[in-house]
Amino acid sequence: MNSALPRPLVRFTGVQKTYDGLSLVVRSLDLEIQRGEFLSLLGPSGSGKTTTLMMLAGFESPTAGDILLDGAPITRTPPHKRNFGMVFQNYALFPHLSVGDNVAYPLTVRKVPKAEIATRVAKALSMVQLDGKADRFPGQLSGGQQQRVALARALVFEPQLVLMDEPLGALDKQLREHMQIELKELHRQLGVTFVYVTHDQGEALTMSDRVAVFNDGEIQQIDRVDRLYETPSNRFVAGFVGDST
Ligand code: ADP
Repeated sequence: MNSALPRPLVRFTGVQKTYDGLSLVVRSLDLEIQRGEFLSLLGPSGSGKTTTLMMLAGFESPTAGDILLDGAPITRTPPHKRNFGMVFQNYALFPHLSVGDNVAYPLTVRKVPKAEIATRVAKALSMVQLDGKADRFPGQLSGGQQQRVALARALVFEPQLVLMDEPLGALDKQLREHMQIELKELHRQLGVTFVYVTHDQGEALTMSDRVAVFNDGEIQQIDRVDRLYETPSNRFVAGFVGDST
């Protein structure tokens, strides 16, 4: 191996996915996710972004190809053994548990000692600016606050990789823009790897280090934001990225 090149955290090689045995919704995906980057998967509805994220999370299996984590295949590793943080729009909080217990949940199931749980929950809540809210219940919080709790829950076990699927989709525009800035800042502070699915060009371009532009089950271009603007690789990328205003 060439030691000058850092090994990517994740590598997809020749990954394909069909749900019905006929049409490929992910055609042939070769994708490298670099350690510490904020990577967005951007594209129109139905282009295969969520399927790609679900395969990375382990909730869907590729029909062909492999997914490697740190060079080791995880293609058949179940989700709970992958140890990724996850924030999905439909990945709701437990309404009957307090905010603190919601955030503690990933540590409780991992049988972390109680004293350590308390420290880590306080730290995670502070990270998302919800200090002092541990005893509230989700129903007592605003949409934005609830999404921050979900984020704290995803970060509390200090995962190396955090997967997010349209996590801000349910929020109004003003709150969404505020949360985008917060997420970007949190990513900078933590230095962990974020993979973020969105169909919103502005969102992807505001937050990401790199963007993978999907269309029709394929990545059209994966590049830094400035390069997507300056040197789009085809008409689709130029049109879709250029449509962000
Ligand atoms: P995106 O996230 O870009 O909107 P998806 O990955 O959700 O795209 O969907 C890609 C294609 O796969 C779509 O045509 C969608 O209808 C189809 N699809 C997604 N999930 C399933 C499923 N569980 N069963 C059958 N088809 C699915």
